[in-house]
Amino acid sequence: MSTFIRNTRHRPISRFFVPLFVASLLVASPAVAGCKGDVAVQILGSGGPIANSSRASSGYLVWIKGEARLLVDAGGGTFARFGEAGAHVDSLDAILLTHLHVDHSVELPAYLKSAWFSDRKRNLQLVGPSASGAFPAIDDFLNALIGPTQGAYRYLSGYLTDGAGYFPLKTRTVAHDSDKPVIVLDNDELRVSAIGVRHGPVPALGYLVESGGHKIAFSGDQNGNNPAFAKMIESADVLIMDHAIPEKADRIAANLHARPSEIAKLATDAKVGRLVLSHIMPRSESQLKASQSLISATYTGPIIVAEDMMCIDLERILKPHDHSSQ
Ligand SMILES: [Zn+2]
Repeated sequence: MSTFIRNTRHRPISRFFVPLFVASLLVASPAVAGCKGDVAVQILGSGGPIANSSRASSGYLVWIKGEARLLVDAGGGTFARFGEAGAHVDSLDAILLTHLHVDHSVELPAYLKSAWFSDRKRNLQLVGPSASGAFPAIDDFLNALIGPTQGAYRYLSGYLTDGAGYFPLKTRTVAHDSDKPVIVLDNDELRVSAIGVRHGPVPALGYLVESGGHKIAFSGDQNGNNPAFAKMIESADVLIMDHAIPEKADRIAANLHARPSEIAKLATDAKVGRLVLSHIMPRSESQLKASQSLISATYTGPIIVAEDMMCIDLERILKPHDHSSQ
């Protein structure tokens, strides 16, 4: 029996929909501590910007061989989930921010303060988009937080000035308006690509993480209208997708986020193995069943509704052709 998707808070995974032929393979294991497969992704926050009793704002962890190596987004509530997951900032190679909306970035200083108490010496990379309109570039954003003269938390400026007891924090700015993927991290175990995605007027990025022959794609917030993102993530094992609006959303919301029909098209065009619906807000949660049906009319792979602390173990994902042997 497959246990590749599990909720590490020991709550049953109650809301997911999959085609019948794989339904029997997607079983939550009721008592698994941690999310520590060889290659796994954990949902720290499956919600959006509205306070919610069970969904923190956006945040995800990529685990490699039992260590948390990447944090994708740092929305409100994710810092507590990060601790709950048993993760440590020491083991992170990078923090990847999709964009600088509050629900994706507000807890960054909390992670930095926490890291001060570690023995870490090596660099930590912080990746984010270039500037546009009301949004600064990632390096200016970091300066506004911890810059030595004007930073709100300038008592943490040692990260930028090689202060005693601090490790270097290096920013990497990715042009949000470029349709060419940029490799932002490449080491023995991880390769991360970033590309601009369309989130209304907000500069935003999507990411592809590759490790051990597996591919995990993060949409960030986007309206689905950049074919270059679909191309970059082609054949990903898992796409974690922004699902913030129902099909009948108004024009302004649909300029920011993808409608279910657009999610279906993106997942189909990109030929992703599994679709995880996340960034769920009350307006999308209330229409979840209808949206899942609409998506599954086009996209024929398994659809999973994200929950906080859910762990998706890439090593245990079964290819459709494998299920006959189970
Ligand atoms: Zn958001």
